[in-house]
Amino acid sequence: MRIVNVETFPLMYPLQQPYGDANGYKTFRSSFLFKITTHSGITGWGECVDWLPTLTRGFEDKIIPYLIGKQATNRFQLVQQIKKWHQRSAAGVSLALTEIVAKFSGVSITDLWGGSWRSSLPVYASMQSYTDQFEWIGHSIKHIERELHSGFTQIKVKVGGRTFKEDLMHIQQIQGLFKEGCNLIVDANESYDFATAREWERSFSNWNNLLWFEEPIPMNLAADYKLLRSCLTVPIAGGENLKSAADFLQLIQNRAIDMIQPDVMHEDGIDGYRHTLQLSRYCGLRVSPHTFDGALARLYALFAHACLPPWSKMKDQNIEPVEWDVMENPFTTITQIEPIDGQVSIPTGVGIGVEIDEKIIKRYLWDGLIN
Ligand code: MG
Repeated sequence: MRIVNVETFPLMYPLQQPYGDANGYKTFRSSFLFKITTHSGITGWGECVDWLPTLTRGFEDKIIPYLIGKQATNRFQLVQQIKKWHQRSAAGVSLALTEIVAKFSGVSITDLWGGSWRSSLPVYASMQSYTDQFEWIGHSIKHIERELHSGFTQIKVKVGGRTFKEDLMHIQQIQGLFKEGCNLIVDANESYDFATAREWERSFSNWNNLLWFEEPIPMNLAADYKLLRSCLTVPIAGGENLKSAADFLQLIQNRAIDMIQPDVMHEDGIDGYRHTLQLSRYCGLRVSPHTFDGALARLYALFAHACLPPWSKMKDQNIEPVEWDVMENPFTTITQIEPIDGQVSIPTGVGIGVEIDEKIIKRYLWDGLIN
């Protein structure tokens, strides 16, 4: 199980039409995939997110020379060492090493982790609502209509990047579009002050289909979150950029939040990520994976979520939905998994149970030019 090779695949896709959230527009989507091979020929895929030149240089100069010759089964120690250099690379390496152990054992990732509670999971369509067009609301509404038509019943949209009035107009139009059984998530990406976040309550109290209000104010304001939670009638969620279960524990102990949102690629490895999921269950909170930056990491979020016990005894509502990027992004299909009517089947084959689409890798391989 000695590691003999690590191949890297930085991928880049410039967007035809930039889209964004309260923090600005994205002009490209990227992915950094890599394949670790052991001396017996077993391979495992990893994925991480960061600026491509940083990742490429870090892997070439430091991480690959370190990994070559090491035992792939020694995951905790290898990941801990790489984390000292670059946390997000460590998270990616933890995925590849997990797949190698699963393949060596001849089992799926979920079986390796103790077995899946469910064969499929609900996913919500995650949108970046803003474009630089004057008619951004009309553009967003058309996109939401397409996603509803394709079977999604849970949609996340952005607020906080336009005036309160304009954002409210957008949300009211969405509410007009929704049929019975459709649910909405509103994400402010930490953009509001306390008073503006609280102002939403006047509208929230009229709607019964809001799943949660995501990151209304900066996540470091735990005391304000606690206060806001007592003012609002919708659950408050957040934490996509937190790095460990210990970070989430602060929010949980302060009773500042209703739902936590860890991200596989932002935490210190898939094992640390799973600790955070379990922490939510120990503490009686809901958890919905944040997973917008890569399809392989999203697949691991699905595996981990499938292994999570129910949060409620109600059969049709006992697992939280997982984020599903529906924006223009060719890398979302790299694992060749698609939702049907807002549900994704969990692969059951050995390892990750799917083939990585190498055609996409060949087509979008980054040319090394920094833009
Ligand atoms: Mg968010």
